[in-house]
Amino acid sequence: MRTVDEHLAEILGAVPLLAPIDLALLEAEGALLAEPVSAPIPLPPFDNSAMDGYAVVSTDVASASEDSPVTLPVVGDVAAGDTGVSAIRPGLCLRIMTGAPMPAGADAVIPVEWTDGGTVSVRITRPAPPGHYIRRAGEDVQAGQVVLEPGVRLRAPQLGMLAAVGRARVSVRPRPRVVVLSTGDELREPGSEPAFGQIWDSNSFMLTGAVNESEGVGIRAGALTDAPEKVREALEDQLIRADAIITTGGVSMGARDAVKEALTGTLTFTKVAMRPGKPQGFGLLHGIPIFTLPGNPVSAYVSFQVFVRPALLAMQGLPPEPPGAGTAVLTEEVRSPAGLRHYLRGRLSSGEDGDLAVTPAGAQGSHQMGALAAADALIVVPEERDIVPAGERVEIWRLPR
Ligand code: AMP
Ligand code: MG
Repeated sequence: MRTVDEHLAEILGAVPLLAPIDLALLEAEGALLAEPVSAPIPLPPFDNSAMDGYAVVSTDVASASEDSPVTLPVVGDVAAGDTGVSAIRPGLCLRIMTGAPMPAGADAVIPVEWTDGGTVSVRITRPAPPGHYIRRAGEDVQAGQVVLEPGVRLRAPQLGMLAAVGRARVSVRPRPRVVVLSTGDELREPGSEPAFGQIWDSNSFMLTGAVNESEGVGIRAGALTDAPEKVREALEDQLIRADAIITTGGVSMGARDAVKEALTGTLTFTKVAMRPGKPQGFGLLHGIPIFTLPGNPVSAYVSFQVFVRPALLAMQGLPPEPPGAGTAVLTEEVRSPAGLRHYLRGRLSSGEDGDLAVTPAGAQGSHQMGALAAADALIVVPEERDIVPAGERVEIWRLPR
């Protein structure tokens, strides 16, 4: 039997770093930027109006007040998107809209609220200093400035910035596409009627979600029967669209362990000193990492968090850390098998003095989805402990919310 750390080290030593690819902006959403992006031009690209109002020469309106407004002839309109160049001389003004280029000669914008809104001539009741309500070229971003550094994740604001500097495509380290396959003759699709002895396939849905929560792209490929040649064929078929593949089931000691039969010689099947999740398989199939996780749903989920999530992060060049690691104080004693690292399902609460507390979340069997679905954390009990008393501080992993 190998330790959790040994098995994880083998996985992290084997998974490839994904090569950068060039993607259209919306396809790049959620990926990590693989190049520095700089602005080819300043933002804003030209001086423009911050308000709907009138472009004026500020000295013309210096004396304007409620009691003695200044009246100026309006010689035209300039709107956002007007590509012609406009200009005024002293004594004149132009009606201007937000985002429209400033006319040559004008040095301030009077907002429409300070006027009578006239279209032929306008009465202005307040003065404005030079530069008033003008958004200057380059006041947001200067030409040549790096606006996004490599390694940043492209969320909505970063996508907006890429578009604002004119980029239609961008080089990114893509989110790994992970195909999820469950195996088992007993599995039926949720929504269909199971016969006696059959159950609904829950693993493939759960792990597709877990992939998405780990910055991967989960692709659920459904359930396979326990036929080794079919399992092998399905994996080969999926390689084309997968950066990694996860299977569940068929890797323990039973008479019909199809995944193990199909892949012995290609992957390594081992027992790992952990509970749940002892039977594990891992290896590369034509260079693609394959994780064969045990079939019990809680085992499959814990195995994902312990081994697959770190691997998916490493493939993106990120630190292979567990989800939300921290500590909390146990509210109850827990018992744990000596020699195995134990991952219990727990519920967090705020204990006395506001410290984080954790309570085991119900029945802890590896088939018991009830406690997992009610949990918001895993409690990690080290190999050498068999009893951890209430009041002791333990390691916890917060599960994605
Ligand atoms: P196995 O690892 O194939 O021996 O399966 C262990 C246990 O997990 C059995 O009780 C299976 O019925 C159950 N199991 C396997 N795959 C799934 C799945 N996709 N969804 C729900 N339960 C499963
Ligand atoms: Mg099975």
